[in-house]
Amino acid sequence: MNLREARCLFTRLLTNDLMPWAYAQAYDPHSPLFGCEFALDEGRVKSPRLVRKAGMVFEAKDAVHGNRGEFRSLHHDGRAVDILVYRQGQYLSNGGDRAYRALGAYWKGLHELASWGYDFGDANHFSLSDGDRR
Ligand SMILES: [Zn+2]
Repeated sequence: MNLREARCLFTRLLTNDLMPWAYAQAYDPHSPLFGCEFALDEGRVKSPRLVRKAGMVFEAKDAVHGNRGEFRSLHHDGRAVDILVYRQGQYLSNGGDRAYRALGAYWKGLHELASWGYDFGDANHFSLSDGDRR
């Protein structure tokens, strides 16, 4: 799968599968996502377009992932996003919350490459894996 294909697949899984499902769940009183809202958080991650223009390799010390040293974040390849979840207007800071667990489980079920950051201590990170990069 080339980068274009991966980015398009990631975007489709995110916008055409995960988010429509999540918003539908938000109206289901029996769902762990009942009453939830969602927001994308890329504030502390540099623009993929700018990083790509600079030559793909990025010295990441971003607070989002706490990485040290040289690392190519999947955010910069357009195949990762951080999703903030709010319930009744309150940000869910606990990544183990039932809402995050439902979102993560659904995401991982969408594709064999779909990876959820909870599995490595970053619950709001949703990505399409590339080798050992998640
Ligand atoms: Zn992330």
